[in-house]
Amino acid sequence: MTEITLACDCGKVQGVAHDMNAQKGNRLTCCCSDCQAFAHYLMNLGRGNHPAILDQYSGTDIFQMPVSKLTIDQGIEQLACMRLSAKGLYRWYSQCCHTPIGNTLGPKMPFVGVVHNFMRHEKSRVDEIGQNRAYVQTKGVKTQIPAALKGAAIQTVLRSIGKVLSWKLKGFHRPSAFFSQEGNPIVTPIIKRKAAIKAEITH
Ligand SMILES: [Zn+2]
Ligand SMILES: [Zn+2]
Repeated sequence: MTEITLACDCGKVQGVAHDMNAQKGNRLTCCCSDCQAFAHYLMNLGRGNHPAILDQYSGTDIFQMPVSKLTIDQGIEQLACMRLSAKGLYRWYSQCCHTPIGNTLGPKMPFVGVVHNFMRHEKSRVDEIGQNRAYVQTKGVKTQIPAALKGAAIQTVLRSIGKVLSWKLKGFHRPSAFFSQEGNPIVTPIIKRKAAIKAEITH
């Protein structure tokens, strides 16, 4: 069991993923067009020389964990939130340096998918949260993902659903760094459509 340090690229936002390991969460890489659009949105805002969000298969390496186990201990005022539609996931990032933080569903859902850029591993990523279990939502991926990397997408998605259900039973949707007690997002989300993000790509 590990306390994993969380930080944006510039260090203004700091937090901790408490008591986590490979078994307690779910590491996967999502190649869906929404996750890609979020990455492009942040790249459009400007990320300087900070590490890439997307891998060579346009995937985002994510660690799904209970939202109540994540605390933001410094720089909460830097948090911003965007959605690709009025019903989309809440996608959180830092205003200071445009680091993706994580993706959440609504306030009743006990889950945050922490984006790899926000995790600072003391040992290696594999030591702390395990291997990537699978690439998911790979239909639109143009570069073939090698079989050895691809993993078992269906099992991983089922595992993720099972985890979320058990976290819900345990009441792990609260407290949340992202939603108030009343269930409102701590900042008003910006809604930006995929087409608008695409039109602005300059990188
Ligand atoms: Zn920052
Ligand atoms: Zn995705």
